[in-house]
Amino acid sequence: MTNITNSNFVHTHVHSSYSAFDGLTSVHDLVHKVRKMGFKSLALTDHGSIGGWVKFLQECSAQQDKNGKDIPYPQIKPLLGVEAYLCNNRFVKSKREQPSGRRGNTHLILLAKNWKGYENICKLVNTSWVEGFYMDPRIDMDVLSQCSEGVIVSTACLKGIININLLHGRYAEAKRIATCFKDIFKDDFFFEVMYHGINAQRIIMPDIFRLAMELNIPICASNDCHYLEKEHAASHEVLMAMATGRCLSDPKRMRFPYGEFYLKDINEMVKIFGSHPRVLTNTVMLAERVDTEDIRKNLYSGMRLPRFEVPFGFASPLEYLRHLATQGLVKLGWDKSPEHIAAFEKELEDIKVAYDNNKYDFATYFLIVHDYINHAKKKGILIGPGRGSGYASVILRCLGVTYGINPLQAGLWERFLGFKNAKFVKADDFYSE
Ligand SMILES: [Zn+2]
Ligand SMILES: [Zn+2]
Repeated sequence: MTNITNSNFVHTHVHSSYSAFDGLTSVHDLVHKVRKMGFKSLALTDHGSIGGWVKFLQECSAQQDKNGKDIPYPQIKPLLGVEAYLCNNRFVKSKREQPSGRRGNTHLILLAKNWKGYENICKLVNTSWVEGFYMDPRIDMDVLSQCSEGVIVSTACLKGIININLLHGRYAEAKRIATCFKDIFKDDFFFEVMYHGINAQRIIMPDIFRLAMELNIPICASNDCHYLEKEHAASHEVLMAMATGRCLSDPKRMRFPYGEFYLKDINEMVKIFGSHPRVLTNTVMLAERVDTEDIRKNLYSGMRLPRFEVPFGFASPLEYLRHLATQGLVKLGWDKSPEHIAAFEKELEDIKVAYDNNKYDFATYFLIVHDYINHAKKKGILIGPGRGSGYASVILRCLGVTYGINPLQAGLWERFLGFKNAKFVKADDFYSE
């Protein structure tokens, strides 16, 4: 391959420190380096977690660093993903009837192609923790096929279900599973190849190419990056030892066999896959499938809140908010203060207007904050008095979310709600620090 640059390749399988005890690099350092290296795009695929997504989105398009200095490198296109744990049945909390292997699950890369895919991966990750957790947060084919729209799938590492079957000489079974993925994900299903000097990776490679040809499925090269620089391999070993509760001197501890899991540039990737340049450039084709604008547009419009069930008898969150806050108003004796009553009514009216005009659901937001603060109080968790302009809300004070000063003294209600220019409510952390 001649004249190939980092813009001809995309790392589609990358871990950050959001892969708990397995990824070494902060999202900031990762994105900074990738922008500096001249890649056009980058995926974030942490183990069972999408916790880094928001930070990742911000870092990919940031124009200034945290000190306000201009970042001299071009923005990059973020590919939001996860390395999910796939098992046979997410409700079986044992290794019974599960894939073979130490933890009874396999790995699979999922990437959001558009907003629908974003929502579906959120659902899948949520399901993996709530319904599927056994040693790892797991999904199964049942829920994966229900949430497949807008999701790009790639076959991951040696712990991927197809690779495990190939490694055990079960070509027909690998083909059956690949066909199943292809039926569900159509052209958004990719084989993945990686090589870190591990013999097993070399052994299955011809079979992956054969399968890809027989089933007409594109192959993407990846490097399953777990740290940024080659010399970080030793630090990653320490992290792995901590994760598994072993000493570095323990010969039986789990370890990555070679120090090759760093973020390689295109020249290093060419050294491995130069004889099959398509597997490198296919990663660009994969990245081009992703409609980041669709994701950004939906993500940053309105407020995204969990659903809050109001008790029977209340027609809306606003009505229930008024009910709860009125109790507080009486308790504080402010129901006899015209000044407080006026501020109280103004806040409720502002909340209603924000919803009617922009669908900003501050009523639900306040109820959720009230709910978790109340829970913390019951559990004896220390609560701070509130901070920032949140002090200025009479309603938050009536709900017991803030305490201490008289909110009218702050006079910052408008700033707190940020109707004029803010797109999001300022979600202060009310817990004691
Ligand atoms: Zn993996
Ligand atoms: Zn991985």
